[in-house]
Amino acid sequence: MIHSVYSNKDVFLRELVSNASDALDKLRLAALKDDTLGADVSDLHIDIETDGEARTLTVRDNGIGMSYDEVGRLIGTIANSGTAQFVKELREAQDAGGAEGLIGQFGVGFYSGFMVADEMTLVTRRAGESQGTRWSSRGEGTYTLETVEDAPQGTSVTLHLKPADSDDQLHDYTSAWTIKDIVKRYSDFITWPIRTVPGKTDGDAAPEPETLNSMKALWARSREEVSDDEYHELYKHISHDWREPLETIRLQAEGTFEYQALLFVPSHAPHDLYTQGYKRGVQLYVKRVFIMDDCEALLPPYLRFVKGVVDAADLSLNVSREILQQDRHIRMMQRRLTKKILSTVKDTMTAAPDRYATFWREFGSVLKEGLLSDSDNRETLLAVASFASTHADDEPTTLAAYAERMKDGQEDIYYLTGETRESIENSPHMEAFRAKGIEVLLLTDPVDEVWVDVVGEFDGRRLRSVAKGEVDLGTQDGEQGDGEREKRSEEYAGLLGWMKETLGEDVKEVRLSSRLTVSPACIVSDAHDLTPALENMYRAMGQ
Ligand code: ADP
Ligand code: MG
Repeated sequence: MIHSVYSNKDVFLRELVSNASDALDKLRLAALKDDTLGADVSDLHIDIETDGEARTLTVRDNGIGMSYDEVGRLIGTIANSGTAQFVKELREAQDAGGAEGLIGQFGVGFYSGFMVADEMTLVTRRAGESQGTRWSSRGEGTYTLETVEDAPQGTSVTLHLKPADSDDQLHDYTSAWTIKDIVKRYSDFITWPIRTVPGKTDGDAAPEPETLNSMKALWARSREEVSDDEYHELYKHISHDWREPLETIRLQAEGTFEYQALLFVPSHAPHDLYTQGYKRGVQLYVKRVFIMDDCEALLPPYLRFVKGVVDAADLSLNVSREILQQDRHIRMMQRRLTKKILSTVKDTMTAAPDRYATFWREFGSVLKEGLLSDSDNRETLLAVASFASTHADDEPTTLAAYAERMKDGQEDIYYLTGETRESIENSPHMEAFRAKGIEVLLLTDPVDEVWVDVVGEFDGRRLRSVAKGEVDLGTQDGEQGDGEREKRSEEYAGLLGWMKETLGEDVKEVRLSSRLTVSPACIVSDAHDLTPALENMYRAMGQ
């Protein structure tokens, strides 16, 4: 296996190159917006310099750089708070072969350098400022920070490499061959030149730097030219996720408004997906030039978990978020990208049911928000949705599969909402349905309360809550006709009257029901009333 010659440790270089690339993107953008910045953007690049004797490796960029405060905030704080512990765990995990996971988990790309270095030094100067900053740390919880004169604009990070493992020649990070190999593997698509500068051993003329990466934008290349691994590395660079994506989606739009898109569905929902601060959106490029991160206008909020790149041919380099929100072409792109993502999900359902199951487990509850906001795609969304059901304990069902299993004479699709599967299954409302073997969807996401009312039906069948209105299952199989029911109502009229009087204002009506088999009584909403959960929600919102 090829993989065995690569080490988990190698990813430190990917992280440093990724940061350098971001810094170059930011500088180009800043120079575009502010021509008084005075930074030279004609030769932006990333240099990797090694020194076998001193055992150092330096990654240098001439990008945006950081101010003194920024270094303290962006690099320093992690060093203060628990980094010693982190680095210790990192070093242990790396011996066990699991360091990569830990890096992503902590979101500390820069600190992965401590896997291979016992000391890291960073020298940086922010574009437009005159004073530089030098930061240094041994990764043990403390760092030094000082200002320096004559620092070149941009950032250089120097790793003082740990002593070499004699049996680990493949991971000698002062070897040009090793560096070349790692860059090819992890960073080939980076759009800036990544160059090696051979060590200054032989004194004479300065050796020519060599560019290691092809710099080809993956989204502009044909599918056959690009390996899955290459796509995955781009995903990791963009998303700062360390795991493989679940789906890779390509789209090339030709014609009057040309663009290319390379989108990814992650394999795990980020923990902050439902928070206000969640940064949604894809990267926007204009003809290979990076324009912005987190471009929200290109995807609807319910697809906010999708990452990737959209490269449009005919937008202005100066385009702003405000303009994008109103642009007609952008709206068309959003529609097309949305359809493409949904059709990919639909295809996965049949082509790769396991991947679909993962997708739905991670992102189903977000996607259901689309049932409220995107009426154009409602049918597709209903088709790709699946729900827990009394039909099976662990396998969710689609609405179409439910419809196929419906009993003779059953006209509606039944569901019950609640907090957990267990609480729903124990609800007295379920008794008659269980007794008659009628399938009920068990809806536990907060958004379920809302969309079922808004959507109302699937394929001509009503969606009906088993907790609302009169659900007369008896007549379906002729057990209990209307006559029978009237007779019994008369029989119990006294009891019902007494209950109504006693409960007074708290209830609208007390009636006999055929929906219970074990419990003596249950509370039911009118067909058009709010469910208790919604009532609580509105009350909490002060309405
Ligand atoms: P992330 O890249 O996920 O934000 P990192 O630990 O890799 O996390 O980097 C932390 C931050 O430090 C970056 O977001 C960036 O603001 C800053 N930074 C790191 N390297 C550079 C660099 N070469 N140039 C400018 N800023 C940098
Ligand atoms: Mg990073």
